[in-house]
Amino acid sequence: MDVQTGKIIGFKLVKKLMVQGDLERYACGSLLNELVNEENCKIDIFLTDRHKGIRCDMRINHSNIEHEFDIWHISKSLMKRMKTLDKKYPDAFLWKTSISNHLWWSAQTCHGDGDLLVKKFTSILKHISNIHEWVEDGELIKCEHAPLSNDEQRNKLWINQNSESYFALKKIITAKDCIKDLAHAKHFIHTGRLESYHNVRLKYMPKRIHLKYNGMYIRSILAIIDHNSNLNKNPIGEKVVYSKSLRKYTIKTRFEPTKSEWRRVLLENIQTAIRNGVPVVCEQFTYSNKNAPKNIAPVTKPDLDDLKAKRFSRFSSNK
Ligand SMILES: [Zn+2]
Repeated sequence: MDVQTGKIIGFKLVKKLMVQGDLERYACGSLLNELVNEENCKIDIFLTDRHKGIRCDMRINHSNIEHEFDIWHISKSLMKRMKTLDKKYPDAFLWKTSISNHLWWSAQTCHGDGDLLVKKFTSILKHISNIHEWVEDGELIKCEHAPLSNDEQRNKLWINQNSESYFALKKIITAKDCIKDLAHAKHFIHTGRLESYHNVRLKYMPKRIHLKYNGMYIRSILAIIDHNSNLNKNPIGEKVVYSKSLRKYTIKTRFEPTKSEWRRVLLENIQTAIRNGVPVVCEQFTYSNKNAPKNIAPVTKPDLDDLKAKRFSRFSSNK
């Protein structure tokens, strides 16, 4: 997806056994190569999840492109770690939502500076211990929130810097891998629009329906046309929706209804092509499914009669 326009500009559909090894790494690497070398796209920043193989491929083959991680993925993994505090350190666990909000705020306000992002985020350790002003490397640093009222001071469950809860929380907040990845979220690009594309994709490829490679390929294209045709919908009001993650009703923006004009245009184009004798059958598509195996089984499909014969011989030997 091109972040500026929200358009899906390319996709790779890879099936197990189609390639040896890491599927995500292969799909991501080959798509990036196509975009850069064949489509002449100038890519400055490439946003992905934190998949190890993709990171490795980016470092080796695309070192000129800045590799950025989605803050949503970082937040999700941080919250998973926070969950481990739930039983043993409930006082630290209570800060979960504040820490998540602080992470998003830090990424949003660091202006593309990775060091500043890390500094802002880890400063939460001061705040939760009721320290809102401190000296770091000879510099006076303050929390950016408004001064706290006496009531706020009294009612917050501050964490003592000498408590076990504090050390458990500090271990999570300052974990080396978390800090290293956090600096890769400095541009605050997140993939909310990609989520909406995935929802459209589910409409064409419901998970409960088994689809063959070709079917998935064509349906991917339809999902992309649908998504790209419905970008920049105007807001027309607000609605109240129940949020599963927040466990409460929240206000969301209501947008114009989805347009499906593209389907009529597509059908008309097909009809015109048929009338003009232009071939429109699927075999004419040049999609790269040559390597797609028929199924994901690692062994060759046996003959039905052979399998039946084996089944009966096994029954007879059990007698
Ligand atoms: Zn503070």
